[in-house]
Amino acid sequence: MSAASRNALFLTNTLSRKKEAFIPQNPPHVGLYVCGPTVYSDVHLGNVRSFTTFDVLYRWLTHIGYSVRYVRNITDVGHLVDDVDAGEDKIAKRARLERLEPMEIVQKYTNGFHDVMRLFNLKNPSIEPTATAHLIEQIKMVERIIANGYAYEVNGSVYFDVPKFAATHSYGELSGRKIDELMANTRDTEGQEEKRSPLDFAIWKKAEAGHLMHWPSPWGEGFPGWHLECSVMSTKYLGQTFDIHGGGMDLKFPHHECEIAQSVAADGVNPVRYWMHGNMLTVNGRKMAKSEGNGFTPEELLTGNHKLLERGYSPMTVRFFMLQCHYASTLDFSNEAMQASEKGLEKLRAAMVTLGKLKPGAADGMDVAAFEDACYAAMNDDLNTPIMIAQLFDGVRVINSVNDGKAELTAASIERLKQVYSTMMVDVLGIREEEKKGDDSLTTDLMGVLLKMRADAKANKDFATSDRIRDTLAAIGVTIKDTKEGTIWEHA
Ligand code: ZN
Repeated sequence: MSAASRNALFLTNTLSRKKEAFIPQNPPHVGLYVCGPTVYSDVHLGNVRSFTTFDVLYRWLTHIGYSVRYVRNITDVGHLVDDVDAGEDKIAKRARLERLEPMEIVQKYTNGFHDVMRLFNLKNPSIEPTATAHLIEQIKMVERIIANGYAYEVNGSVYFDVPKFAATHSYGELSGRKIDELMANTRDTEGQEEKRSPLDFAIWKKAEAGHLMHWPSPWGEGFPGWHLECSVMSTKYLGQTFDIHGGGMDLKFPHHECEIAQSVAADGVNPVRYWMHGNMLTVNGRKMAKSEGNGFTPEELLTGNHKLLERGYSPMTVRFFMLQCHYASTLDFSNEAMQASEKGLEKLRAAMVTLGKLKPGAADGMDVAAFEDACYAAMNDDLNTPIMIAQLFDGVRVINSVNDGKAELTAASIERLKQVYSTMMVDVLGIREEEKKGDDSLTTDLMGVLLKMRADAKANKDFATSDRIRDTLAAIGVTIKDTKEGTIWEHA
């Protein structure tokens, strides 16, 4: 395979709905923006899946020779509870419940998010900007949209005029929605009286009395609308047009649709060249959601401490499981599927160990160059990780038959195979080494998880849970002691 075809990546562009050759605007530089978390609660596994997709995209683009500027934001203000420009600020609500400052909530859940990203071996983005650090730019963008006639102020809030914008521009193209249908399906809800049309959305909201997070603006004290920060931060760091914008499928509408409308209304430019959306994670065939009781956290997944989990699974098992499905397809979580992934991963890891011990022969029982090309071709075909992994499984059969003396590989082929497995498994899929259960470091990690759950339970005055964790540990000979320096544990 030539160097040119090695980086001939094809992506399914959400906007064109076609698979097309990815041509960066400014090669070898690539601008990648991914909508990050809103830091008011723990991330759940569905979020982890979406971020893992873009982690693999980042790894792959880097591997095939691009220099990627990867921007993933932190939403630390501006989300209202019901997402229709009404209700309480999610972060402020959490701050009240946990009796903390809003910025303590932001820090706490940002730290927690970073812990989860490290646990699942996701690389850090190049820039991780926060919404609150870009208030001035957001206010300026609102001013440009007003100046161009696509937003209006009412009583200290500013709304984007969707019908006016849609009269001369396309609106709804990304999500495949039509303005008449949207109109027919929208009901007036509380807090919407100020809008000229129910389709309009807030780009700046007046802070009502008692609202904790607010900033001065030309329209009085308030805070930015949710969609605004991504329009501002993506173009600030990646330029007025940039290569790839990613996020979960649920962000396509209204979030990403509104981002496009804001940028076009403010600057006359649709900033994004390729849109990529990661699909949902379901659990036993049902959408993962807290209200369904199946929105388990990464910690519960590792400990197995959830009614839907037969037992715990290691972070790399979870990561491998997610990558055995194409990012654009829904992925269903079940104990059977997790156990199958665990076995599969063990098989690949064992084959890599076997590969290191193979004795070279005189002949080649495998066309290693073609094998390598097939791995590249799968990844270049819209990041088809399941096909690439299937390819790696095919290779295991050859490795094992060489080990059993039923086939041969030359020294050069063995070296090249080692290289391919290490590149694809470690660099691209991001599967790192893990200690087996029972090893000291895993025990320490697991105890850390349990002690944190106990501390959270105590903080929430859920003493039944904190006591149960202590008693269950005591039953297996682990005693825990609360000291000034924190909680310590020992095994009898
Ligand atoms: Zn966003």
